[in-house]
Order: sequence, then structure tokens, then C-alpha cells
Amino acid sequence: MSTLSAGSAPGSSDPGALATRLAAVQEGVASAISDAGRNAADVTLIVVTKFHPVSLVRNLYELGVRDFGENRHQDAAPKAAALADLDLTWHFVGQLQSKKARAVIEYSRVIHSVDRTSLVRALALTVDPAQPTGDAPRPIDIFIQLNLTDDANRGGVAPAQLEALAEGALGTPCLRLRGLMAVAPVNGDPRAAFAEVRAASARLQRLAPDATALSMGMSADYREAILDGATHLRIGSAITGNRPDAG
Ligand SMILES: *Cc1c(COP(=O)(O)O)cnc(C)c1O
Repeated sequence: MSTLSAGSAPGSSDPGALATRLAAVQEGVASAISDAGRNAADVTLIVVTKFHPVSLVRNLYELGVRDFGENRHQDAAPKAAALADLDLTWHFVGQLQSKKARAVIEYSRVIHSVDRTSLVRALALTVDPAQPTGDAPRPIDIFIQLNLTDDANRGGVAPAQLEALAEGALGTPCLRLRGLMAVAPVNGDPRAAFAEVRAASARLQRLAPDATALSMGMSADYREAILDGATHLRIGSAITGNRPDAG
């Protein structure tokens, strides 16, 4: 039971506390990368700003952050529009309805949560093959999300369906399959979960040798994720502070 109210906790409206938390996470990330014997250039830190205001994104931008994650289109779209003056990369990390695919692609060219063939088709339809310049259309970067739980409502494809979904994505020229995304189950051992993702990644790479990226690691488990090969960390509350209306 938390005894800290939003009033006494360092809130997201305090830029000094934000800078301190960002620096602490950056240090934790650097030390895990060094312990893993990996290169910092191979790990992208995405700050997940869901439920937080535009002002917090601007503060993070001033602190050097360029990659941001959101999980709900109805919140992300107005935020991206209000921040269109900044050169940001938006990563969409939440469950995505096929009918919203076109709207999401307007601001986010990286989708971490592709989990079914109907969504692959919907994303393909968002890319207009007839570019006025005659250039090939800019591809959409996608990750296939794996569901590591038995709950089909959690989002993500069941590991047994991975190959079928990957084949659909690979057969779609405007999509660039980067790799896998997963959320470690809350009460489990994150290392066991990440080992499962690595095993699935090895299977995926038999079909798609370039799809080596691993989007995994959140506030509670980013160190473990880095030790297990994560290339894209999706970190929210450890940097932003508690979410204002996360409930
Ligand atoms: C909210 C969210 C995160 C960040 O979670 P924290 O525990 O706040 O770091 C990462 N990935 C997804 C898919 C999310 O929805």
C-alpha cells in the first residue's frame, strides 16, 4: 500500500525531479550495458509518456530525449499534433485496432504491437504506393508483439502463431519487420520471460535474418532485459514519475 500521495511524491510537473530520474535511469541503463559487454549504440531508450501532459514531453526533449512511446491513439494523436514543432520519433506500443491504423501512422512510423494478420493488412493499406516523387514509400517499422501469458486479451500473438504472422509481415513490402516486442508478466521471473523471447527471436530469424531487434524492458525490469539482449527499452514511470490518472 502506497502512502505517497501525488502531492508528496516528486510529480511530473517538477522538471528538476524529472531530470534526476532520467539521469538515474540512464545511469542504470549504461551500467547494465557495460555489465552485459554490449554497445550503448545498440540500445534505444524510449520514454513512455502515456497519461502525461505535453509539457512533460517538452521537458524531456530539452533533456535530450527524442524517442517517445504512447499506448492509446486518442491520447497520442493530440500530443503528437501539439509537439509537431519538435523532431521526435513516436513509438506506438499499445493494442491497436485495425480501423485506427491509418490515423496512427500519421504520427508514428514505429509500431511495437503488431499481433495479428488483419493488422498487418490494415497497415499495408495505409501506405500509398504512388509517391509523387517516384520514390518507394517510406516503410513502417514494426515489431511483432509476443503474448507471454495465457490470457489472450493481453495483446500479442501466441508464440505458436509467430511464424504465420511473420510470413504475412514479410510478404508486405511497405512493412519493415524489426523484431519482437514483449511485456514480462507482472509476477513472474523477468529473466525467464526474456529467455522465452530470445528463443522466439531465434525462430523468427530463420525466416527473417534482419529481424533481430528486441523491444523489451520497462521500469521494473530494464536491467534484466538489457542482460538478455534488449535493443529497445520502453520505460515510463521510472522516468516520468507516477502516472497522473493510471488508477
Ligand atoms: C506503460 C507501458 C510501458 C512502460 O511501463 P513502466 O512500467 O511505466 O515503465 C512499456 N510498455 C508498454 C507496452 C506500456 O504500455
